[in-house]
Amino acid sequence: MRTTLDDYTDRYAHRVSGMTASEIRALFAVANRPEVVSLAGGMPYVAALPLDTVGSMIGQLIAQSGDVALQYGVGQGMLELRERICELMSDVGIEGSPDDVVVTIGGQQALDLVGRLFLDPGDVVLAEGPTYVGALGVFQAAQAEVVHVPMDDDGLIPEALEEALAACVAAGRRVKFLYTIPTYQNPAGVTLTEERREAVLDICERAGLLIIEDDPYGRLGFHGEAPRPLRARRRDGVFYLSTFSKTFAPGLRVGWILAPHAVRDKLVMTSEANILCPSNFAQSVITTYLRTMPWREQLKAYQQIYGERRDAMMASLADLMPEGVSWTRPDGGLFVWATLPDGLDAKAMVPRAIAARVAYVPGTGFYADGTGQRHMRLNFSYPAPERIREGVRRLAGVIEQEAAMRAVFQGA
Ligand code: PMP
Repeated sequence: MRTTLDDYTDRYAHRVSGMTASEIRALFAVANRPEVVSLAGGMPYVAALPLDTVGSMIGQLIAQSGDVALQYGVGQGMLELRERICELMSDVGIEGSPDDVVVTIGGQQALDLVGRLFLDPGDVVLAEGPTYVGALGVFQAAQAEVVHVPMDDDGLIPEALEEALAACVAAGRRVKFLYTIPTYQNPAGVTLTEERREAVLDICERAGLLIIEDDPYGRLGFHGEAPRPLRARRRDGVFYLSTFSKTFAPGLRVGWILAPHAVRDKLVMTSEANILCPSNFAQSVITTYLRTMPWREQLKAYQQIYGERRDAMMASLADLMPEGVSWTRPDGGLFVWATLPDGLDAKAMVPRAIAARVAYVPGTGFYADGTGQRHMRLNFSYPAPERIREGVRRLAGVIEQEAAMRAVFQGA
């Protein structure tokens, strides 16, 4: 007898019953067709790596120490990598001990661990609105509720954070932490200013609220340095999460958490129950890369390529977008957040955009509460500058048509 997936509906655990495919996943299948200009993904431009050299480095690594690289490892991650991670963090003003670093399978598992460690069903997580779709997935799987705190061009608005916190407390809700991406945010592309960093830290400190600081993009600034991370300013109560996905390569799936010492053991045990140990192979590749290759030069190459692509995106938007469309101006990272004129719906527009051979991610994917219709996320790290311009040209055409259609309906 054949069974369909639906036959399993009654058997699912409660925590997966509300799971739905993210907007991004659903889009990838069509967005990857060659005739479509995809501004939808979030892929680093790994072709900018010296792939031949990385290949020989990996070959040598296996020949010389394959017995370790291909073996099981320890749950917390390899010591040499944790030491190097501490050196990287000290570049941005963070002091931490290798003892308090837990290596994870990308930043995504770091988020998952934090969710497993702290969230019970019904707990509240405060997060920027919009926020990273993968974090929403983690919080939803933990059956927590995300309450969004609005941002503007300077990042999270401290007064709005205070209000959201007070409203949750007044409603008797248990707020577990603030999840924030302060630098070159995904998806909004904005950066929390120096003053606001201090204000946000003060608010959370007064309220006894933990902060989960997610910083995959902090080293991808196009000019000058980003403001120092929150964790560089306060040691207590801030969990710092980062990853090698954007500074080296996402295919290796290596990230980390710098956690307050007291929770380190629980984090390691949670991770061991989840994955046993992170990949020794991937960790060895990264350690060798950091030890033997000019990684700072590579970082500069990424910054320069993305900076040029950001400029191409900004110029194309300014030249081609119809009146009433606005967008952020990222100083780093991979994304621009665009806002459509009132009354247009970026999600409803997706099929028309795909028909016009351009893809983006509608804003609704980045909110847990179903809002975000007027927004879209545009990626500029992967497509070449001419493709970006062509994509924006197609998108502008679709938006113009939508606006015209809406005007006709309103007039009728
Ligand atoms: N956090 C944020 C804000 C991200 O944008 C991403 C990747 N898009 C991640 C975490 C996870 O990245 P990875 O698992 O590749 O390290």
